[in-house]
Amino acid sequence: TSLNVGWNWDHSYARLSDKLYHLQQPTAVQAPQLGVLNEPLAAQLGLQAEALASEQGIAVLSGNKLAEGSEPLAQAYAGHQFGHFTMLGDGRALLLGEHLTPNGERVDIQLKGSGRTPYSRGGDGRAALGPMLREYIISEALHGLGIPTTRSLAVVETGENVQREKAQPGAVLTRVAASHLRVGTFQYAANWGGADVLQQLVEYAIKRHYSEHAEADNQALALLRAVIHNQAKLIASWQHVGFIHGVMNTDNMTISGESIDFGPCAFMNKYDPATVFSSIDTGGRYAYGNQPQIAAWNLARFAEALLPVIDPDSSRAVELAQQEISQFSALYKHHWLAGMRAKLGLANEAAEDEALIFELLEMMQEAGADYTNTFRGLTLQDESLAVQQHHNWTAWQERWLKRRAEQQATEEEAVQLMRRSNPSIIPRNHQVEKVLALAVEQGDYEPLEQFVEALRQPYAYASEQLAYVDPPDEKMDCGYVTYC
Ligand code: AMP
Ligand code: MG
Ligand code: MG
Repeated sequence: TSLNVGWNWDHSYARLSDKLYHLQQPTAVQAPQLGVLNEPLAAQLGLQAEALASEQGIAVLSGNKLAEGSEPLAQAYAGHQFGHFTMLGDGRALLLGEHLTPNGERVDIQLKGSGRTPYSRGGDGRAALGPMLREYIISEALHGLGIPTTRSLAVVETGENVQREKAQPGAVLTRVAASHLRVGTFQYAANWGGADVLQQLVEYAIKRHYSEHAEADNQALALLRAVIHNQAKLIASWQHVGFIHGVMNTDNMTISGESIDFGPCAFMNKYDPATVFSSIDTGGRYAYGNQPQIAAWNLARFAEALLPVIDPDSSRAVELAQQEISQFSALYKHHWLAGMRAKLGLANEAAEDEALIFELLEMMQEAGADYTNTFRGLTLQDESLAVQQHHNWTAWQERWLKRRAEQQATEEEAVQLMRRSNPSIIPRNHQVEKVLALAVEQGDYEPLEQFVEALRQPYAYASEQLAYVDPPDEKMDCGYVTYC
């Protein structure tokens, strides 16, 4: 007898032009074994955790068996990687289908690491356990921080090794996303699909993510505007928590506005806009401080892809698209300022806020202050912060306190606002590495599970014993290196 997981499949993406995908079965693995299962996410999706964790459930999560009603496919996409346009596609992932949740949501269910596809190029189609668990940790952390993100339902060990720099245990991750439509999906359609495929994709994206614009006269323009809005908000929220994505190629930017692709990402420790962790980002293209400009650049590539369906008159199309793109920086700044005010307990707006914020950041940089801990410490009214050693601190603090005293909000309300806006815990590089090593090398998942549990409630100011430990050495701080 097999337990009922509660899958409720539909395949709207497969009903689009077959130029956009390739039907592809997963490649079976030797000895699947459950690593982690995201029980809160399962519950949210209307799926039975117990059934997912059963032999039959794990067979599905490893790609060894297809759930009844799933029809796997590899999605085609293209993208600018570090500025260079390339044909890509799901080289090691498969969309099993869309699951319709009991609350009427539609989510993509994707296996990552499920074998080769026509888009694999030289790759083996597989994924290593460490990086998949890392994706699980970081995506749960972002979700806990209130930032839109794809989620991880499960990580299954394959019982096989994958060859990287050295042999590593393999894994398959089940990714849950509002959709896997990317800027790169539209670039693919524009280059290899033709205007009809592009138009179909535009209507699909509007229907799936921005149905409030279903009646818009110009659907492509409405889509562009909506994506610009959501991305401006998303990138601002990354900046607020010090999240560095690391590989903001156009294929890694979603149409839904969710964060996706957690290869080389990491959180900044000391405040420094030039912070880069990714081993392949030698030019610092995707440094913390560059993320807003890169998002704007990617959105310009999105607009370019949409030009033929924005207006048949190409110069008119360019003009309309440019009007939208030109909104990004103001939208971004609006969201960024709103979040930074909240981090300082400012409940209203004043002209001096921007200067106040920049001066604090400048002091933090000069003092070598930890970004998260500074805001956490200010929230807790700590008096032993690195930034408080700065020669401008007293003058700055006076202005800040005066500004707070002048607002309508009470002191108590200001402190509450700060607590809701300043996480006390983020996935620190050295802590992530520690729990990963225990899971991967010793099969001990307990510390990882505990860490994820704490990361799910970063504004609770609980789990303080996990909140911050000094990085043991430079290697886990500014010298930390991440890999794709
Ligand atoms: P990413 O850097 O994760 O955005 O991936 C870029 C491209 O490389 C995508 O088309 C992936 O599907 C593909 N890719 C990454 N790793 C592998 C792998 N091990 N086997 C096949 N394709 C891969
Ligand atoms: Mg990617
Ligand atoms: Mg990746």
